[in-house]
Amino acid sequence: MSATIGSFHNHPGYCDGSGSIEAYAEAALAAGLRSLGLSSHAPVPFACSWTMPLERLPAYCADVRAAQVAYQGRLRLWLGLELDYLSPALIPEGSAFQRERILVHRPEYLVVSVHFVGRDPAGLPWTMDESAESFARQLDAVYRGDARRLVEDYYRLLVEMALVVPGWGLPAIAGHIDKIKMWNAGGRYFAEDAPWYLAAVEKALRAIQAAGLVVEVNTAGLRRGIGEPYPGPRVLHRCKALGIPVTLSSDAHRPEDLIAGFAEAAAHLREAGYQEIVTLEEGGWTRHPLP
Ligand SMILES: [Zn+2]
Ligand SMILES: [Zn+2]
Repeated sequence: MSATIGSFHNHPGYCDGSGSIEAYAEAALAAGLRSLGLSSHAPVPFACSWTMPLERLPAYCADVRAAQVAYQGRLRLWLGLELDYLSPALIPEGSAFQRERILVHRPEYLVVSVHFVGRDPAGLPWTMDESAESFARQLDAVYRGDARRLVEDYYRLLVEMALVVPGWGLPAIAGHIDKIKMWNAGGRYFAEDAPWYLAAVEKALRAIQAAGLVVEVNTAGLRRGIGEPYPGPRVLHRCKALGIPVTLSSDAHRPEDLIAGFAEAAAHLREAGYQEIVTLEEGGWTRHPLP
């Protein structure tokens, strides 16, 4: 793997991830990377089992900054966060919380993702990627089996997210943009070539393009069941047609997965017509030939 490649979506052990920052840095050096982005799940203003507790955020930021100094000249470490899009309709205080309690810690970049799509039957924010059982329950209990409505809700939130992210003024990667297909192996719930599905994706992509976001090719889907990255080949082709820049990510929750699936994801990119990917450098997103 080329030394020009960085990896920017990684979860050390401050949220539901594991491993120290140093363990990720050593894995990055061993893989020949020049850049490593840490992106623990940012705290949210309600109880959540997989995000970082708000009390840990100062230590996380301090630890990444200390590692930046320790690895200076060998590896550029980036202080990032995977920040949820919290729709005002779902979490009215979410935007102020993120501005006043999270972004004040001055992360250098963000992975911005939609995980919370509406409320579960108990009235709590519902996470779309928690489990197959949770997805089936939500679809049945809240959407009365109408998968199209659930999926359209997800992509509508991506559009909303793309509208607000530029206001944060940070380099941002749109995280796992078609992850709503996670439990849809074999087209179990909906057809990913249905006109309504493609139209929902297209609206999200156009909003992402207009916002100047980078799309990641997230290889977690290759490791967990669905057999293709997020986004998959069809969506990647549309990204290419719209001129959206892309980067490779593994969404590692342990250091061993830092560049897992990168070769396969690069092949998907080439197939979609991409010849370059971007990595974060001092001047912003910088293009490099696809490895
Ligand atoms: Zn995520
Ligand atoms: Zn993640």
